[in-house]
Amino acid sequence: MFAERIDFSHEANLTINELVNRAEVLLPDTELTILRKCYDFAEKMHINHKRSSGEPYIIHPLNVAATLIKLKMDLDSIMAGLLHDTVEDCDVSPEEISKLFGQNVAQIVVGCTKISKIKFKTKEESQAENFRKMVVAMAQDLRVIIVKLADRMHNMRTLQYVSKEKQMGKAQETLDIYVPLASRLGINSVKAELEDLCLRYLHPEIYYRLAEKIAMKKRERESYIEETLNLVEEKMLEYSVVGEVTGRPKHFYSIYKKMQQRGVDFEQIQDLLAFRVLVGNITECYKVLGIIHSAFIPVPGRFKDYIAIPKVNNYQSLHTTVIGPKAERIEIQIRTFEMHEVAERGVAAHWKYKERNKTDAPGNKLKWVEELMEFNQTSTSSSEFMDAVKNDLDVGGVFIFTPTGDVKELRYGATPLDFAYAVHTEVGNKTVGAKVNGKMVPLKYRLKSGDTVEVLTSKTQTPSKDWLKICKTSRAISKIKQYLMKIERDEQKEVGENILEKALKRFDTSIKSLDKKGEFKSILDKYHYKLLEELFVNIGSNHLPIKDVLVAIPSIAFTETDELEVKEEDKEDSYYKKLAQTARKSTSNDNAVIVDGLDDIVVKMGRCCNPIPGDPITGIITRGRGITIHTIGCPRIADMEKARSLIVEWNKHYTFSHPVNIKVTTHDKPGILSKISKSINNSGINIRSAIARSMPDQKGNFVFEIEVKDYSELLKTISSIEQMEEVISVSRA
Ligand code: MN
Repeated sequence: MFAERIDFSHEANLTINELVNRAEVLLPDTELTILRKCYDFAEKMHINHKRSSGEPYIIHPLNVAATLIKLKMDLDSIMAGLLHDTVEDCDVSPEEISKLFGQNVAQIVVGCTKISKIKFKTKEESQAENFRKMVVAMAQDLRVIIVKLADRMHNMRTLQYVSKEKQMGKAQETLDIYVPLASRLGINSVKAELEDLCLRYLHPEIYYRLAEKIAMKKRERESYIEETLNLVEEKMLEYSVVGEVTGRPKHFYSIYKKMQQRGVDFEQIQDLLAFRVLVGNITECYKVLGIIHSAFIPVPGRFKDYIAIPKVNNYQSLHTTVIGPKAERIEIQIRTFEMHEVAERGVAAHWKYKERNKTDAPGNKLKWVEELMEFNQTSTSSSEFMDAVKNDLDVGGVFIFTPTGDVKELRYGATPLDFAYAVHTEVGNKTVGAKVNGKMVPLKYRLKSGDTVEVLTSKTQTPSKDWLKICKTSRAISKIKQYLMKIERDEQKEVGENILEKALKRFDTSIKSLDKKGEFKSILDKYHYKLLEELFVNIGSNHLPIKDVLVAIPSIAFTETDELEVKEEDKEDSYYKKLAQTARKSTSNDNAVIVDGLDDIVVKMGRCCNPIPGDPITGIITRGRGITIHTIGCPRIADMEKARSLIVEWNKHYTFSHPVNIKVTTHDKPGILSKISKSINNSGINIRSAIARSMPDQKGNFVFEIEVKDYSELLKTISSIEQMEEVISVSRA
C-alpha cells in the first residue's frame, strides 16, 4: 500500500535483473544500460570476496543499490551504491571510476570511503566532533550521506553474522551518528528502521519482549485495526473526503522511548497503534482532523500541528491521539501524499524533484537543502560551505564551546543567554552581552554547533522579563522566573510595609511598636503566616485588604467607617512620579498641564489612557490625590460624575519625553526590526524597548516603546513607519 513503510529487509536472492526491473520506473532505458555495466564492473571487482554470512560479497552492494532505488534516488547514487566498497576493498582507483562512470559517481564513492575510515567517538561530548568529521566527508555531495545510510542500513540488517562485540559497537555508532543524520535529513523511513535495529542489538531483552507482546495479540489487533480503518473510512466518505487510511503497530523504538520518558512498563503504554490518513490537500487534512475529533474523543494535549509549524527537517503532518473503539488510545497522523513522500524520503524525495523535474520542484520543501546545494555551487571556499552544512545538521541540540574548550550541549535554537545560564545561574543573571567566535552578537543570536561563546557580565546587571522571550532552554527560563518572582516579592513586601506603616500613622503607632507588643499575632495566626514579611507581601500584592489587617490589631479601635486611603502612587513607577513632580513645580515651563486657577496641585496622568501632549484631555478631581488627566475618549471617565471634571490644557512650553507603545504588524522579513528601528531613530525619536514576535502566518509583530514629546510627533512617527512596504499596520497600543 502507498502509505506503508518502505521495506528494507535483506534480500538474499536479489539479482541485477530484478534491480533493473525496479529501476525501470525511475530511469530511462539508456541509464538502465549504464547501470548493468556498472554492476558487471562491481561484480568482477568483488568476485573473490565473501560476506561474514558466507554469501558472495556482491549481494551487499546490490542490496544497498536496492535501498537507494526504494528511496527513488538518481542513477549516480545507485551506481555509487553498487561501487561504494570497491575503492576500499578492491583497490580500484577513484580515477578509474571517474573514467568509467563519471566524476560524480567517483566523488560519492570517495566520500563513502572517507566516512568508513573515520574513527567516531561514541561519548556524548564528542558528538560535535563526530558531526564535523561527517561533514568533512560529505562536503562534496549530500548524496554521500544517503548512500552511506543505505550502506549502514544493510549492514545493520545483516548484523547477526558478526561478533557480539562488533554488533554492539556498530549499533551504538548507528544510534549516535546515523540515526540523527537520517532524522535531520528527514528520511524517517530509514531513521525508524535503524532505530529498531539498534534497539534489537543494544537492548535485546527489551526488543524481544516487545516483539513477543506485539506478536501475541496479533489476530486481535489486526481485527481491531480493520474495524478502526473501516470506521474512519466510512466517516470520511460521509463527508466526501477521499484518501488512504492505514494502521499498524508503532515501531519498537518509539514505544521504548515512551517507556523511558514516562518511566513506565510495557503494560502501561496505552497507545501502541498508529493510524495514518493521507489526503490530497491541506484543507482536507484539517477536515479529516475535524471528522476524527467528532467521531472519537481526542486526548487533551496530544494534538500537534506540524503543518502550520513544520519540524526543522521540514516534516509536516497533523498528529492527534484519540480514544478509539473499545476505549483504546490510538495515534493518528494526517497529511497530504506529498508531505508523506517528504516524511518518508526526506532529502531523497527532494533530490528526485530537484534533479529530474526542476519545474515541478515544490515551493519551499526542504528549503535548507536547496539553499545548501546552491551554496555548494556558488561558494568558492569549501570551509564556508562546511559551516553551512554543519549549522543545518544540528539535530536535537547544538554543541557550544566555552572559551576554555569545554563543550555544552544546548537545545536547538538556544541563545547566548541560554548558554550563560548553562554555565552558571549567576553568570546568566549578570549577562550583558556575548561574543561568538570573537564577535559581539545580540543576546537573541541563534547559536550554531561549534560556536565558541564568551559571556560578558556586569555586576549591576539583573534579569528582565524580556529575557523569557529570548531563552529557549528550560533551565534558563526557570532561573529567570525564579529571579523575577523574588524581585516581585521583594517589591510587594516593600509596598505592603509602606501601606501598613502609613495606615498605622493615623492611629499614632508603628509597625515596630505593635510588633514589640505582639499585636500582629492574631492576624498571622488567622492566615497561617509565619513571618511578618508574608503579611507585607500579601498587603502589597492586594491579596489582603489593609482594613482586614487593622481590624485584627487589638489596640487599634478601627471601625469600617474610618476613611482609609491607600495611596496608589506607592506602586507607581518612577516615570509617573517624575511627571507628577514636574507638574507640581510653580514655573509654568515645567508643567505638563495647565489647570486653570490652580497653580500648585498634584497632576497625574491616567495610566489607563496614557495621554500625551496633543491628546484632547480632561482633568478629574480625585479624592485627596489632586487631579488625574485622562483623554476625552478614555472609557474610565465615562462613569465618573461630571462635577468632578475640570478643564485642563497642555502646556505648550512643556518639554518632557513621553513613553508610548506602538504596535507594528509586518510581513516577516529578515532585518525588518532593524529597518523599522532605524526609521524611528532617523526621525530623532528614542526607542526605549522593542519586543518582537514572529507569528505562524508569516507575519511579524513588534511593540516599540518610544519617547515622543507630543501627539504630532507620535503621528509623524507612525506615518513614517506606515510608509514602509513590509508594514501591514501601525497603531498606538
Ligand atoms: Mn558497504
